[in-house]
Amino acid sequence: GIERFLTLMEAKPSVVGGKRRVGEDFFDGCIEFKDVRFAYPSRPGEEVLKGLNLKIAPHKVTAIVGDSGAGKSTLTKLITRLYDPAQGQVLINGVDIKELELPSLHKGIAIVDQAPTLFNSSLGDNIGYGSVSGQFSDEQVKEAAELANCNFVGKFRAGFDTFAGSGGKGLSGGQKQRLAIARAAIRNPSVLILDEATSNVDQQSESKIEHALDNLLEGRTAIIIAHRLATAMRADIIAVVKDQGIIELGTHAELIEKNGYYAGMYETWISQNEGTVLV
Ligand code: ADP
Repeated sequence: GIERFLTLMEAKPSVVGGKRRVGEDFFDGCIEFKDVRFAYPSRPGEEVLKGLNLKIAPHKVTAIVGDSGAGKSTLTKLITRLYDPAQGQVLINGVDIKELELPSLHKGIAIVDQAPTLFNSSLGDNIGYGSVSGQFSDEQVKEAAELANCNFVGKFRAGFDTFAGSGGKGLSGGQKQRLAIARAAIRNPSVLILDEATSNVDQQSESKIEHALDNLLEGRTAIIIAHRLATAMRADIIAVVKDQGIIELGTHAELIEKNGYYAGMYETWISQNEGTVLV
């Protein structure tokens, strides 16, 4: 154990933060990918992004769609600086995010991903861990849980003191997802990144999750990796990732009108879901 601990403590991070400290209103600006080229360090020969350009407007919902493996999640990893582009820049408000202090950058962003990590602690703590200061009151936890539609917590005898169990073993996929949304809500982030839940939640949970997300999205800059076209259709702007770049950008109506790649995806989706989709 000590050996592993020392290795971790001695590891030199490849991503180093800058010096610039910024406040909340900094994130009111646009997020821009400028000629970004990127390959994962473990596969240096395989470029995932080849000169990608994209502007994400503030206070709007941008859906990113594309085939599996196209590079959608990679974009979110670059915004949070889990990785840096090999070439090009990621800018917020016109500033290269490499100039920002990492805590400053991370304070403005919350991520809800497909497989939320729950810690072996109470449900309340699991929500509270999202708070920027690391401090939270019972009242804040309750408010965030309400916004995220976590009414299932009230059905447990111990309420928010209920133990989540290792990795949230005692909870369903939909419940874990809503806890993750509450964790993002308590952070009150300027920028919200959602890697949309896939079909591993039942339909009833799905509508509860959608409702929770609508509450959280209001007024924020949101980037949704949309696995379902129903979500993309509701976004303000849709960006289609293909061939290591953005091939189409526009509203649902504009992209249908354009009759390109997105329109093709949409047609396939409609024919596969005939009778079940309300358009
Ligand atoms: P999407 O979100 O569109 O499904 P990703 O951004 O997850 O696609 O992945 C884009 C490409 O990068 C895929 O070919 C995937 O296999 C590869 N990839 C993703 N994560 C890693 C990683 N950590 N190391 C190496 N390759 C990766």
